[in-house]
Amino acid sequence: MLYLVKMAKYYIRLKRTGCIGAVSCEAMAPLHWKLADDGKIDLINSKLIDKENDIWELVIDEKDLEKNKDAAKACPVNVIEIYDEKGNKIA
Ligand code: SF4
Repeated sequence: MLYLVKMAKYYIRLKRTGCIGAVSCEAMAPLHWKLADDGKIDLINSKLIDKENDIWELVIDEKDLEKNKDAAKACPVNVIEIYDEKGNKIA
């Protein structure tokens, strides 16, 4: 019998215009963050969900949550936020 376990999803949102390229996020979660040629960070595999405000989003599951919460906490200009499925901001 196949059991499907529904893993909780989390939403990382980056307001990329505010990034100052400090790369603290990349140090915390190098599989998700990479400094781009323009000196700002890319949230790898994210989608641009708000063009006007330059907001990029990546959906992750529980296994990638803690290191990205650390990335959000480490950002000196607070341009990384993480939300749960109910829309509560958790980092
Ligand atoms: S820690 Fe913040 S300012 Fe630094 S690269 Fe990451 S998003 Fe940009």
